[in-house]
Amino acid sequence: MTDGLDLATLMATVMDDGNGAVTPPIVQTSLFTFDSYEAFENRMAGRSNKAIYTRVQNPTVAAFEALMAKAERGEAAVGFASGMAAISSTILAFVKPGDRIACVEHVYPDSYRFMERLLRPFGVQIDYYSPKQFEDDADLLKDVQLAYLESPSSVVFQPLNLKKVTAHAKRHGVLTMIDNSWASPVFQKPLAQGVDIVLHSASKYISGHSDTVAGVVVASQKYIDRIRDLTLPLLGAKLAPFEAFLLTRGLRTLSARMRQHEATANLFIDRLSALPQVRHVHSPGPNDVPGLTGRSGLLSVEFDDSVDIPEFSNALTHFRLGVSWGGFESLILPARVGIAQIGEENSMQRFGVSPNLVRLNLGLEEAEDLWADITSALTTSTV
Ligand SMILES: *Cc1c(COP(=O)(O)O)cnc(C)c1O
Repeated sequence: MTDGLDLATLMATVMDDGNGAVTPPIVQTSLFTFDSYEAFENRMAGRSNKAIYTRVQNPTVAAFEALMAKAERGEAAVGFASGMAAISSTILAFVKPGDRIACVEHVYPDSYRFMERLLRPFGVQIDYYSPKQFEDDADLLKDVQLAYLESPSSVVFQPLNLKKVTAHAKRHGVLTMIDNSWASPVFQKPLAQGVDIVLHSASKYISGHSDTVAGVVVASQKYIDRIRDLTLPLLGAKLAPFEAFLLTRGLRTLSARMRQHEATANLFIDRLSALPQVRHVHSPGPNDVPGLTGRSGLLSVEFDDSVDIPEFSNALTHFRLGVSWGGFESLILPARVGIAQIGEENSMQRFGVSPNLVRLNLGLEEAEDLWADITSALTTSTV
């Protein structure tokens, strides 16, 4: 099965350092000098594209951006210091006071906080809708400027029919953005389904090794130009060369890792669904919405009241307690910990998430070892 990324060919071009190195050089410099007054003047007047300063342009970062644009089938990409930097810098490049945002419910908690704590006080109105409302109500996006999407959403992983939503958006002239961190470009290419701007927390599957925090945005040239013109230089949350190097390393194995995560997730869904203590497994897959071609390793499980969640969490040995996901290590995040920590205004609580829900990040360890860990922990924690 092919993911169609064809990154191998592009790897060779973006990494050519003239010596045949197979990984890109880390160009660890803040500034770039010019041979002559004329060359400098030409560049500053926008008549050449040579790098000037690493806050806005760096060859190691550019190599990663070229690969990401290719992976998402976009024209251009821009890297950021974190997923949240990518999200905030992208939204701020396109909204102004008085605008309205239609946001998917169960959005990533810090994206929710960005909307509520920063955008709303600046006079932006934000309303939250379920995937069903986005899909079925053709007039939902009337008088809206931006549709901010996740498919699937965070924690409860509700998928969204992107073709339907982008058709409504196009009819009303609404800009669409999607956080594609869960599926990665291997399992979902939203630009091909009509979404305008795709962004990622590259800290997750793209990095794949839990060793960096980064973000990236992919879109048509005109949207990326706007971000490069406004929020990348002026907010300055740029991606660092070393981080970009790690992400390029991650991209080389992304496809292989995603297939392994998927195989483990498929095994888990079958077996979890058969357990008497399990009420529901939230894990969208290829048949749930058009355009989703795989199942990632991040899912959540709702147990019934017979399972003592703290005891279950403590009894696990392979799954470690922690936030984030997408790396080698399997992790568990009990929703009640997330909810208690996030407090009143949290979107999860507003939209009702069961306290018996746990999110599992299925890592790259042996699937049978992970499963044995779950069953043995359940034995000691079920009353
Ligand atoms: C982690 C995450 C983010 C935030 O990314 P950072 O790199 O931590 O800033 C955004 N969206 C989703 C879905 C995430 O899981």
